[in-house]
Amino acid sequence: MNEIKYLKKDLEILYKLQICDIKIKNINEKINHIPNILKEVNKVLEDKKKKIDIEKNNNNKLIFLRKEKESLLALKENTIKKYLTELNVVKSNVMYKTLVIEIEKAKDDKDVIEDELIKLMDAIDKNVCLIKKKEKELLQFKEQTQKETEKIEISADLLKKEISVIKKEREIYKLMINSLVFLEYERLSTCCNGLGVSLVYKESCSVCGIMLRPQLINKIKKAHTLVFCDNCSRILLMGNTI
Ligand SMILES: [Zn+2]
Repeated sequence: MNEIKYLKKDLEILYKLQICDIKIKNINEKINHIPNILKEVNKVLEDKKKKIDIEKNNNNKLIFLRKEKESLLALKENTIKKYLTELNVVKSNVMYKTLVIEIEKAKDDKDVIEDELIKLMDAIDKNVCLIKKKEKELLQFKEQTQKETEKIEISADLLKKEISVIKKEREIYKLMINSLVFLEYERLSTCCNGLGVSLVYKESCSVCGIMLRPQLINKIKKAHTLVFCDNCSRILLMGNTI
């Protein structure tokens, strides 16, 4: 009788140990997921930086174009000045008329360049404002990311502490269990998705759901030996004893 009680107790403790293992597994999954979260956050940050760099590059191209147009405008202005000076000293009517036509043509060209310059300067101004706005947003995002990263790191530390507490509890349970029963559990846990023990409810294995034979149910109730599920091979324990 004592022996029966012993095995029942072993299995009850084994089940508690399995709960510890499930908790450890779940917490480890959370911890393992943390680098992915951080990576994702950093990726978003890098993407935002890249977009701003692209916009800066585009704006630099516009600034280069503006400088070109400014040089061109200066050239046209010099040409007009030169023609106007020549106009004062020209002697023939034909030359005079030719110069007037050239001056008008140069003025038209100058107007076109000025219009282009105004458009360019407007586009550059708009881009500068947009870049500044995005840089401000990036700064805010960086600060927010920094805070989130700190929070995540703190939660990782807390999870690690939680694991070490559960591991100590598990160690106590392990010492209380017959070592052969524990070894069997470990072997099954490895091949049964971390669940070596299954509770029996309504005469069925709660993990795989199969209806158990009456003989098996009797054996589980007696608890003289370890009883395994016919279908999933897990160690069976009556659910109402937990
Ligand atoms: Zn089963």
